[in-house]
Amino acid sequence: MLGKNILDMLKDEITNIEYERYIKQLKYDENSSKSDYAVFSAPNPFIANWVKTKYSKKISNLFELKTGVKPQVDIVVGKKSSNKKRSLNTASISGQKQTSSTKLNPSYTFENFVVGSSNQFAYTAALSVAEKPGQLYNPLFIYGGVGLGKTHLLQAIGNYNLAKGKSVIYTTIEQFMNDFTYHLRNQTMDRFREKYRKCDILLIDDVQFLSRKEQTQEEFFHTFNELHNKSKQIVLTSDKHPKQIAGLEDRLKSRFEWGLIADIQPPELETKIAIIKKKCELDGIILSDEVINYLATKMDNNIREIEGTIIKLNAYASLMNQKITLDFAKSVLKEQIKEKQENISMEKIIKVVSKELNIKPSEIKSRSRSRNIVSARRIVIYLARTLTPNSMPTLAQFFGMKDHTSVSHAMKKINEIMEKDENFKVKIEELIHKIKHS
Ligand code: ADP
Ligand code: MG
Repeated sequence: MLGKNILDMLKDEITNIEYERYIKQLKYDENSSKSDYAVFSAPNPFIANWVKTKYSKKISNLFELKTGVKPQVDIVVGKKSSNKKRSLNTASISGQKQTSSTKLNPSYTFENFVVGSSNQFAYTAALSVAEKPGQLYNPLFIYGGVGLGKTHLLQAIGNYNLAKGKSVIYTTIEQFMNDFTYHLRNQTMDRFREKYRKCDILLIDDVQFLSRKEQTQEEFFHTFNELHNKSKQIVLTSDKHPKQIAGLEDRLKSRFEWGLIADIQPPELETKIAIIKKKCELDGIILSDEVINYLATKMDNNIREIEGTIIKLNAYASLMNQKITLDFAKSVLKEQIKEKQENISMEKIIKVVSKELNIKPSEIKSRSRSRNIVSARRIVIYLARTLTPNSMPTLAQFFGMKDHTSVSHAMKKINEIMEKDENFKVKIEELIHKIKHS
């Protein structure tokens, strides 16, 4: 335990905070170290760089004290809780050559995934599939916005099954495509097929990028069929429902819908808070509840961005030798966290919905009770509650309704239909997309 001894010695030379924040997170890599070369792994690039610049000299001196040899010290990025060899980030230099499937991130596990109502369904589906691959839902199709945990769940299925000795392939659709082109060019398609059609579990990330790639779609279609016929599990993720992926062949669309489709919604506040706490715990970063609440309420729902922000805060605090107080967090993040801009107007929602449903904007605000107008009005109310800060009483007033109960009734109705009718739900998602991006 030479490496650990050295880090313990270092503990006496630095402050407690420094030790907790950085040094405690290092793991000595016995396999890669030699007498004149000491390697430690850090959980993220920031800590790795920080340790390298600030402590590597000290570490080297301590080695000399202990062993008589002064080694060169290297800090690499790797996950702390994992098998060292597999996780060390020795990025392949051979580059674009034969792209093998990417390794799984060992920290993307079910245990590290925080469950809330926004992702409960996808989480449960993923866990069931992990436990009984090929038996329950095949394929499982997970879709949702950026940074909401799709890749995490996908890889959790992989890690779970790797541990059981199953053969798992994880790849993004882009890698699949590069791999395909490579083997095609080299006339080694049999190797390509061997690889993708002989696994127990195929995990494919970001299938929306299949859009308009006809040749890859064709190849993927056959891969899919062969695995499916052999009851091998296929799991796919995408930022959209299969129906919404433009330029995707119908036969693939329909296959993607054969099994189970699970969506991940943006996290509610409590889930966001729980995720932040979890990340802090995993990265050994200490934040007060006050700061956590601030981040959770002010930041967008993209968890990846929130994670980046936590690391940045931590970095600034150490550089400036400061505690992460609320004021400090505010000042560091003032540029990043723009006060939520509520730039979606009622007019815009009405415009998009009426165009889509082919009715006049004025009809939506009218008192008409004709069926299609009532239905359109409900959709507008639902979207307004979802996309704008308007309260129920405000909306009731806007539509000349008696009070907020009519608004809440409309909300309930739409939620009911969405639960029952997948097409309707997709339609609503499409509308949201149009409103946000037009
Ligand atoms: P996506 O693939 O949907 O864009 P990722 O799976 O890459 O998103 O997630 C982005 C980051 O957020 C990852 O580091 C992931 O671990 C984290 N994350 C997302 N959702 C959760 C969750 N529910 N619990 C814990 N971490 C999460
Ligand atoms: Mg992803």
